[in-house]
Order: sequence, then structure tokens, then C-alpha cells
Amino acid sequence: MLKKAVIVGGGTAGWMTAAYLKAAFGDRLAVTLVESATTGTIGVGEATFSDIRHYFEFLGLKEREWMPACNATYKLAVRFQDWRRPGHHFYHPFEQMRSVNGFPLADWWLGGGGVSDRFDKDCFVISTLCDAGRSPRHLDGQMFVQDYRDGGGDEPPGLTMSEHQGKTQFPYAYHFEAALLAKFLTGYSTDRGVQHITDNVDEVQLDERGWISGVRTSEHGTLTGDLFIDCTGFKGLLVNKALGEPFISYQDTLPNDRAVALQVPLDMKARGIRPATTATAQDAGWIWTIPLFGRIGTGYVYSSDYCEPEEAERTLRAFVGPEAAEVNANHIRMRIGRTRNSWVNNCVAIGLSSGFVEPLESTGIFFIHHAIEQLVKHFPDARFDPVHRELYNRAISNVMDGVREFLVLHYKAAGRNDTRYWKDAKTRVMPDGLAARLEHWRTELPDSENIFPHYHGLPPYSYMCILLGMGGIPLRSSPALALSDNTEARRVIREVRSSAEDLVETLPLQYEYFAQTHGR
Ligand code: FAD
Repeated sequence: MLKKAVIVGGGTAGWMTAAYLKAAFGDRLAVTLVESATTGTIGVGEATFSDIRHYFEFLGLKEREWMPACNATYKLAVRFQDWRRPGHHFYHPFEQMRSVNGFPLADWWLGGGGVSDRFDKDCFVISTLCDAGRSPRHLDGQMFVQDYRDGGGDEPPGLTMSEHQGKTQFPYAYHFEAALLAKFLTGYSTDRGVQHITDNVDEVQLDERGWISGVRTSEHGTLTGDLFIDCTGFKGLLVNKALGEPFISYQDTLPNDRAVALQVPLDMKARGIRPATTATAQDAGWIWTIPLFGRIGTGYVYSSDYCEPEEAERTLRAFVGPEAAEVNANHIRMRIGRTRNSWVNNCVAIGLSSGFVEPLESTGIFFIHHAIEQLVKHFPDARFDPVHRELYNRAISNVMDGVREFLVLHYKAAGRNDTRYWKDAKTRVMPDGLAARLEHWRTELPDSENIFPHYHGLPPYSYMCILLGMGGIPLRSSPALALSDNTEARRVIREVRSSAEDLVETLPLQYEYFAQTHGR
């Protein structure tokens, strides 16, 4: 039996891992987390996937217990602004696509079955709720869709994210302050017995087989354990530096390698809290806007081949307006790609040390959550059977490679084509397999048979949203629909629109909801 895990790094990855291991194994596994007092955390990472609720559920936490402590808000969708042309927006919502007679509603919409030029509003209730700034819960806490328990779902509990996919779609994710979440999880973990050490790891010691035998700290001697978890961020101190595992760059297909971020306090009562992360296209990248309770997190993600840091900061400050004047900017270099094998010998890399793609669809925390679930699923005993390692590594690399494809699609499909950055995006090399899939999608919309063939967190409807919303790739509806009666599809679309309008009448604004639940 494996007795002790040592986690190096106390960012979001380190604390999410520590808390989850304690929830999974209790006192049967000793967990020590060591984090540097001098090297900070990345300080960003505030928007999530809707699967994140399984994480909190696994920890036994209700929204009311952790959300106010993290200034958290609801996220119903990603809003893409100006990716097709200036002034245009569409949503990629957390809502399954309905289908009629075996064809997705989007296909009927393409074939002329829509009631407006907004596919996202004709096919999804959530897009209208986002435009109207609504909370997904009524003031009494009841959710706008009825088929989910409070804080849970109607599906059997205890499944991993990949097992859930396709069965249901929980209708929202969260925005939260990364530093406050790490603080909250620190309390959760240490209350349950995680040993917390604040110190620098100065040396990673290897035995004669090349396995990690201990990590030497500046003031606490050498920490020994059976399993070492590398959560040291882009540095990859254990997995890349000490064990020499190579890093596979995605930069050829995803060129954005820098970001500049601001945390801007705002009067949310006056401005409202949009229940979506917004990604606004810019000349050399895009700007994220994440509304929290009391401030926004915002940042410009760009490629250093097309934009200098000073110019990026100026663009971001102009985008935010006078409220940003006194706020310090955080300039970040991003390592885009993945460590070839995230689990090497007795070391598992989780978080930025394992891999990262630009935060366009908020996948960083999703990668962490998925990795922790997979680690528990494939947890080794003292023999460290290589089968566990191989299955784990395959699951992790599939998720990252699949997400890379999905993100590359955003740039290929964007209607925007006005600067060198956007023009080059259309001719840039694509990951293997995507070019052929794109050809298929011009003729038939994505389905589970013709997207990236392994679990990566994105269902076919997500691909449909990006293709239909971005507008740069001509699409055709299935020829069968031209021969079919679309009465039922039009009825469903009208039903989507009218139930969305009814909900706008009854649901509170996000701000009203959180002013009540966060008690301010
Ligand atoms: P870090 O936060 O970098 O933590 C590293 C830890 O290692 C620190 O505690 C540090 O003290 C410690 N450490 C380093 N060296 C040593 C040493 N020698 N000894 C001891 N400790 C050491 N994800 C999302 O899901 N949604 C988003 O919206 C999102 N936006 C992002 C925007 C940007 C610009 C970037 C770069 C990332 C974003 N991410 C996002 C990803 C997300 O921020 C990360 O996945 C998450 O914060 C995890 O980071 P980490 O814990 O791996 O690394």
C-alpha cells in the first residue's frame, strides 16, 4: 500500500489535489504539501467548466459553503465577442443541443428552420438568459431547470467526468477568485490532516533507478514519500527539470504565448454581473472578462510574434477604461503544450507543470480536475505497476490534444481576417487529423463519430456552436432535411425561444441573486 504523497506547489493545482486526495483516502494516505514563500502562484485562473461541480460534490461542499468565501458567481456560457465581425457576439452555453428526428436542432436551423439569425438563441435557452444577465437560480435557490438536485445532478453520483459526458449537461459553471479558492482549500485540507509546509524546495533527490527519493527544502530538511506530485507550475521542477521529461510545445498550432492580466474592482450593483465569461477578439489575440462578486478579472492573451507587452497592456487598459488606471498589471509568459508523460516513475505532474493551452475555453482547472480524478482511478500501490501509469498518461495526453484541436478550430473558423495575426491564423499548420475533420464538418455538422476520437471534455454540440458562431467556414445542412418536413423543428425552436422569454421574466439578475446569497 502506498502510504505518503508529497505535493510540491501550493497554487490551485496543489490545493485542489491535496483536498481531493484527503476526500478520497482520508487518513489512509498521509499528504504533505510544500509551497514556496518566495515564488508566487500564477495568480489567474478564475473561470471553469460545468464539470467542476463534481469536484465540489466529491469534497462534500455545498455552494453556500464555498461560493461566498471565493466571491464566486455563475457562468452559463462563454460569450464570443467580435470573432466574426465587430459588434457580433454569440454564446457557447452549457446546454445540450436538442435534436428532432435524429438531426440536431442546429442542422434544422442551418436548413432554414430558424426563427431568427441567432442560431444560439434559437437552439439554446441559455443564450437569452445571458443576454439578459439572469441568474440560473431563483431567489429561493431553485434552479431554472428542474432535473437537477441542489448542488448535484440527476445522474448517479460518483462517476468521473468522462463517464458523465453525453448523459447530462449541468447548466452552469463558476467564476471565482483563484487566490481565495486556494485559501479555502488550504483550510479544508489542513482541517483533514494535510501537513502544510511553507518552504523552498532546493533540490530533488533521485535514487539509483532515477526515482524521486526526497525533496530537500531550505529549512525543513528532506521530505520523503512514496509518490511525488509536481504542482510547481510552468517550471515543472520535478517532472521536467529533475526527471528530464520533455515538453511537447503546441506553439506551432496555437501561437499565443503571453498574457497581461488586471484585477479591477468595479461597482457590480451599477454594472451588473454577466453570467458568462467573455472572450473579445483583438488585433493580436483576445481579451477575457470574468465577472466576480466585486471585481472583474481581465487579461489580454496574445502572441509575442505580433504584439509587444507594452502595447498589449495599453490595449487592455483602454479596453477596461478609467477603472483600470490604478491597478497593477501582471505580465505572464505562457508555456503552451504538454509534458510528454505527466506521470514518470513515482512523480505525477498536475496543473501547469503537466500542460496548458491558452484559456480560451477555461480548460486549465478542468485539466487539473480531470487529472486528479484519473490519478485516483489509476492510483498505484507500492509496486507502481506500469499499467496504471500508461493508462493515466494516455488519458491526460488525449484530453490535452483534444482540447488543442478544439481551440485551433476557433481561429480557423473565425470570420475575422483583418490583421496579420488573423490572416496567419487561417494558413497556420493544424494538428494532425483536424484538417480532415474540418472538411467533414463543411458537409455534415460534427457528431460523436467525427470529432477528436477520445474523451477531452468537449461534446459535439460545442463544435457546432463554434462553427456556427464564428462564421468563417461555409456550412451546409444535411441534404435529407431539404426533403423533410420541418414543422416539428420549428415548433421546438419556438418553444426554446418562448421558455427563454418566460424565464427572463421570472429569474433574478445575477447581481440581485448574489447580493442576497453572499450577504452583502
Ligand atoms: P502556479 O499557480 O504557478 O503554482 C505553482 C506553485 O509552485 C506555487 O505555489 C509556488 O510557490 C510553487 N513552487 C514553485 N517552485 C517551488 C519550489 N522550488 N519550492 C516550493 N514550491 C515551489 N484556468 C482556468 O481553468 N480558467 C481560466 O480562466 C484560466 N485563465 C488563465 C489565464 C492565464 C493567463 C494563465 C496563464 C492561466 C490560466 N488558467 C486558467 C490556468 C490556471 O491558472 C492554472 O491551471 C491554475 O492556476 C493552476 O496553476 P498551478 O497551481 O499549476 O501553478
